[in-house]
Amino acid sequence: MDPRKLHKEYGLDLRLEYQGCAFCGGSPTTTDHVPSKAFLSKPYPDNFPQVPACKECNQSFSMDEQYVTCLLDCVICGSSESPNLSDTTQKTFRRSPALAERIERCRFKNEKGDVVWAAEMDRVENVITKLARGHVLFDLSYHELETPSTISCMPLMAMSDGQLTSFENAGVGQLTSCPGEIGSRAFLRAFGEPGYAKDEGPWVTVQPGRYRYAIENGWVQIVIAEYLACFVEW
Ligand SMILES: [Zn+2]
Repeated sequence: MDPRKLHKEYGLDLRLEYQGCAFCGGSPTTTDHVPSKAFLSKPYPDNFPQVPACKECNQSFSMDEQYVTCLLDCVICGSSESPNLSDTTQKTFRRSPALAERIERCRFKNEKGDVVWAAEMDRVENVITKLARGHVLFDLSYHELETPSTISCMPLMAMSDGQLTSFENAGVGQLTSCPGEIGSRAFLRAFGEPGYAKDEGPWVTVQPGRYRYAIENGWVQIVIAEYLACFVEW
């Protein structure tokens, strides 16, 4: 697709016109939502961020994204058979009972009797990195294609008070930090440009209760379903 058409149709940053796929730098033939719709519920928000992507990247993440969204739903509901699972997860499990079994197999009780999920971390990290790269291109207007130096995630409720405070206040009060290149979305948001309203504090809420993120040069923090806190740093 002509990059100028991407700008016209999707309002992408002008400087993205000649930039490549957010995830591999290759030639973009499509666009990808950041985060993908699988992480949100209907009705989807307006002005839902999109970045240029190549077809291969656009397709290659979808199985891992499906795994992560279903896994999270099961973890939050306590079981892969819970009637409280979202309609999307239930539909996915009906279509793919193997996925439900695979997720259920990683659920066990530890010596204290707590339910623990031994998630396939390579798939979880693959998805978190993809999300973070999308946010970097959308918000900061550059490609981050290096392998992250840190990828971590843990439930918000498992954090200590100190960890939670520093996670929630990410970037606040760091006077030396720059909110992205002049003209990038993060810059416009930081300076209250119309149409780029920033939430209270460092967080940008894509959909309340479903997805929020905070970003600065060098790192991205994400909270999925107000449950899973993720941190990616380069
Ligand atoms: Zn690509």
